[in-house]
Amino acid sequence: MASYDVIVIGSGPGGYVAAIRCAQLGLKTACVEGRDTLGGTCLNVGCIPSKALLHASHQLHEAEHNFAAMGLKGKAPSVDWKQMLTYKDDVIGQNTKGIEFLFKKNKIDWIKGWGSIPEAGKVKVGDEVHDAKNIIVASGSEPSSIPNVEIDEKVVVSSTGALELSKVPKKLVVIGAGVIGLELGSVYARLGSQVEVIEFLDKITPTMDGEVSKGFQRLLKKQGLNFTLGAAVQGVEATKTKAKVTYKLRKDDSEHTVDADVVLVATGRKAYTDGLGLQALGVEMTDRGVIRTDKQWATNVPGIYAIGDAIEGPMLAHKAEDEGMAVAEVIAGKAGHVNYNVIPSVIYTHPEVASVGQTEEQLKEAGRAYKVGKFSFMGNGRAKAVFAGDGFVKILADKETDRILGAHIIGPAAGDLIHEVCVAMEFGASAEDLALTCHAHPTFSEAVREAALACGDGPIHA
Ligand code: FAD
Repeated sequence: MASYDVIVIGSGPGGYVAAIRCAQLGLKTACVEGRDTLGGTCLNVGCIPSKALLHASHQLHEAEHNFAAMGLKGKAPSVDWKQMLTYKDDVIGQNTKGIEFLFKKNKIDWIKGWGSIPEAGKVKVGDEVHDAKNIIVASGSEPSSIPNVEIDEKVVVSSTGALELSKVPKKLVVIGAGVIGLELGSVYARLGSQVEVIEFLDKITPTMDGEVSKGFQRLLKKQGLNFTLGAAVQGVEATKTKAKVTYKLRKDDSEHTVDADVVLVATGRKAYTDGLGLQALGVEMTDRGVIRTDKQWATNVPGIYAIGDAIEGPMLAHKAEDEGMAVAEVIAGKAGHVNYNVIPSVIYTHPEVASVGQTEEQLKEAGRAYKVGKFSFMGNGRAKAVFAGDGFVKILADKETDRILGAHIIGPAAGDLIHEVCVAMEFGASAEDLALTCHAHPTFSEAVREAALACGDGPIHA
């Protein structure tokens, strides 16, 4: 048994970042993790492995589609799936070991095992009970399913199973056209699977700006993904090698079935708080089943804080990280802060899709007067040189003040480009501020500047 200033439960991006910042601020810190490796969902079965597979499958796509045009001749590479999984596992290993190194460097104790909170100020792991002046719950989330769909992680899989299938399926049905379903769907489409995406709503990625969502669907279709929208899945019947998905089209209630070798259930994630003992402690939860916190991440029980996927807000690694840093600062008596209006979200398909701030639909609904500046990557020399002319940058700015209200990008490196708009928004910049900033040529970022110019006197290359 040991005594700590802070014990963090969970070592995902929320938990490990909180632990590191607490230690940096001079607090004696431990982090409890039940998995065999640190890093949580993100490093083990989320962001990192999915990006490794997206990268590998994108290289194949480049070789098959663009190499010959650039004068790169020779046999196109074939897929060694086992080796691709080994590469993915190596990437995971390097990253999780990296967190272990950072824990040692910052003198953070990793308490191995599943933790619970028998009472405020105490964390129990196995038979040991540790004292903690402050406890940060960063227990994350787990995949959620829908009625009549049982996940076996072999034929009917969650994202976790989809990252380690025994082989590339001939036919993959993805239930849910959100970020995770589309990223993993496009991995398998590039590797040769026939991919069918079934979505309940009438559009893909429903929270995204409507124009971007439409353009994105068109591009994914061109890459071979098929979409059935407005379809309510009724159930999945599975054998050891096959599955049958039954759905009803919402427009006419007609029932349909589709066969698959693998079904990926990507219908969202739910907070994971099992075994922590929160109910017995009287920690308040919201109606959506996540831990309720105040603006400083404190629960209603003194000394217990919560962050990341286990609380309200977008289930994103960087949101969890920001909360991790901020809650550490609050505990250390400083002013921790997260600006929830400027949290970017990215889909790492090809092209990438990225957004920050408000969508056009949200501005319309709020009755806010706004202007739109748009620029197509077809007018960007660098994008055309690398076969990446598909997509556009769209900047939304206040009609009167020109203050940037949101940005939506579909195109090359969108996930990186969005950050110049994030920084601009943090500083309360106008579209003109972006437009007057010199951007190096030839870069994709010139498209962001051109979209900002389009909010004023107009872009140059359109
Ligand atoms: P988690 O990462 O879920 O970590 C929680 C940790 O707590 C887990 O390791 C768990 O074992 C541990 N734990 C839980 N309870 C206990 C307990 N009682 N005792 C001990 N340990 C416990 N987000 C992005 O921003 N970008 C992406 O590209 C992205 N891609 C994703 C791809 C996939 C396939 C998935 C599934 C998710 C992806 N996400 C992405 C979401 C991202 O992974 C999560 O938002 C992020 O991991 C949340 O961090 P967290 O620290 O709140 O929790």
